[in-house]
Amino acid sequence: MNNIPPIDLTRQHKIISQEVEAQVTEILRSGRYIGGAAVTDFEQNFAEYVGAQYGIGCNSGTDSLYMALRALDIGEGDEVITTSFTFIATSEVIVRVGAKPIFVDLEAHGFNFDLQQVAAAITERTKAIIVVHLFGQPVNMSDLMAMAKKHNLYVIEDCAQATGAAWQGKKVGNIGDVGCFSFFPTKNLGGCGDGGTVTTNNDAIASKVKLLREHGLVRETGAKVTYRHDLTGLNSRLDSIQAAILDIKLRYLDSWNEQRRVAAENYHKLLENISDITLPQEVSGGFSVWNQYTIRVQDRDQDRVIIRDLLRSKLQQQGVIAMVYYPLPLHLQPVYQDLGYKLGMLPMTEKAAREVLSLPMFPGITFTEQQQVAYALKDCLVDL
Ligand SMILES: *Cc1c(COP(=O)(O)O)cnc(C)c1O
Repeated sequence: MNNIPPIDLTRQHKIISQEVEAQVTEILRSGRYIGGAAVTDFEQNFAEYVGAQYGIGCNSGTDSLYMALRALDIGEGDEVITTSFTFIATSEVIVRVGAKPIFVDLEAHGFNFDLQQVAAAITERTKAIIVVHLFGQPVNMSDLMAMAKKHNLYVIEDCAQATGAAWQGKKVGNIGDVGCFSFFPTKNLGGCGDGGTVTTNNDAIASKVKLLREHGLVRETGAKVTYRHDLTGLNSRLDSIQAAILDIKLRYLDSWNEQRRVAAENYHKLLENISDITLPQEVSGGFSVWNQYTIRVQDRDQDRVIIRDLLRSKLQQQGVIAMVYYPLPLHLQPVYQDLGYKLGMLPMTEKAAREVLSLPMFPGITFTEQQQVAYALKDCLVDL
């Protein structure tokens, strides 16, 4: 039997290889590799997809978050509340602008932050909340936006793992003040390299992000380069080739997300009623795009071996490659030692870090493969 990988991008590429190769060849022959219609077309199509007025392409999801914070003038002396259970880019950018990340704990069920904990963490220094729609599952944005409004806080949505997800029919990235997207290859809309986009309905934020992504350079109408710089920015453009590829993939995104939703349904059925494991659930009001299908493997002993790790290596022996996102929460990362967090401070997050296991999940995974995953999982659990 073949190994079942956590993600297989070659299947996706096969479907679109002719279109992609034709587009890339055209750009290569055109001699225009930065900017141009490929970028502006994609930006417009992506903004339309999300439902936002502006889509501003950039180099990565990380840069999209960084520029969002800069555009909102967040910096020294400010606090930004976010989850500890996410990829480090989310908090890295808070530190990079000179602000302080305030990590809050997870909700009891699911992998997004607990809104009561967010409310409790608000101080007079709090400027913004970065909400992460982790694993493709949207946060309850109705409650979050109400809270943010009450306290006059900005909301930045980290949609890196949730392109196409929605809360009560409205797409993520179009609910808060700014939406930040990553096109890293393993995301729901993944390019053939790095890329990202900022979405917003706010004119001032959009103008500032456009300045920031290109060295603070002021462009006159007609895109004429002036060599006048109004801000300290960065070089964070989305490449033309990348934009062209993403524009093709964007047309397939809904069907690929639908395939993920079907695969999640399959796992729900194949894995129901197994003791010691808990399955992920779609929350009511949320439309998940299942960037990951993450189960919990019940932890039995705080100090000894992590049962999840045993299960993971047994699965690997049977050819099923499962992943752990994330084994060490951000509040316990060596880089944040100075912030003063200790083990035990965010118990739900720490528990999740010991229990999570992400099963193979990608558009094009076959039912037979999912059956094989389920079979291996049951088999491995017997003598754990
Ligand atoms: C991937 C990811 C990022 C960073 O995106 P890059 O494009 O890799 O810079 C940020 N936040 C989350 C939650 C992510 O998963």
